[in-house]
Amino acid sequence: MVIFKKNNDINIYISAQVANGRSIGFVPTMGALHAGHLSLIKKAKEDGTLAVCSIFVNPTQFNDKKDLEKYPVSTEADIELLISAGCDVLYMPDVEEIYPGGAANTKTFDFGYLDTILEGAKRPGHFKGVGQVVARLLDIIKPAKLYLGQKDYQQCMVITKLTEMMGLQEMEVVICPTMRESDGLAMSSRNRRLTEPQRVVAAIIYQCLVSIQSKQHIGSFAVVKKECEDLLSAKGFEPDYVALADARNLKLLDNYNTDTPMVALIAAKIGEIRLIDNMLL
Ligand code: AMP
Repeated sequence: MVIFKKNNDINIYISAQVANGRSIGFVPTMGALHAGHLSLIKKAKEDGTLAVCSIFVNPTQFNDKKDLEKYPVSTEADIELLISAGCDVLYMPDVEEIYPGGAANTKTFDFGYLDTILEGAKRPGHFKGVGQVVARLLDIIKPAKLYLGQKDYQQCMVITKLTEMMGLQEMEVVICPTMRESDGLAMSSRNRRLTEPQRVVAAIIYQCLVSIQSKQHIGSFAVVKKECEDLLSAKGFEPDYVALADARNLKLLDNYNTDTPMVALIAAKIGEIRLIDNMLL
């Protein structure tokens, strides 16, 4: 695996690879890698692309400064994991490479409705930061395929919209399934900050999603939603939202509508740690 820290160096390397007929598969991450991230790398490899992973903890997408300060960093272990997954290129820029002259001078995008609901409503400015960094990374890497995890469902929709706004319709966005621990908890870099007792109860989020899914033909969503909120609270979570939406556009639904593809989404906080997950119905 080749590691680059400078835009110029990775540009030269990638241009040479593309000139040699390689197609680039890109997996942007914030590090603290786990099997969820590695599944994206493996998919990029299976697709025959040159797998390029970036590790950059983007300051502009953290609406909560404490979350940024406490974001786990494990560079040595990440490098080992990427090598074991067959990653070809790792890009690890510093803030100055991504935002020369400061983030305030770097282009941002307006995601409209998508930025007003769920994560957008609970984390003001978050998707603006995500759009800003992904736009920069796409400018630098210029991939043929971009690999994202369904774990961050709304982010997948935001980034897909970003690629349209950037005129990158040629680039394929590949959304990969959520990797889970054996009890169903969605893998996340934030899980490593959970205490042992918090970790034990954390799978309740997944169980709520399963319950929302299993009751779609028999229940009222309002009732199931209340059950989930009560269950999350009973286990020590503070639910941010338990929501149901049209999976194609994230328009929120008050009740099940089995005529449309649906997605259930949950965000909840335990202690200082905020977890999100979703499930297609
Ligand atoms: P992050 O490092 O959290 O910004 O995530 C980088 C990429 O990995 C994003 O596209 C995430 O959606 C994806 N990802 C994170 N967790 C998982 C998971 N459990 N399964 C699959 N993809 C994931």
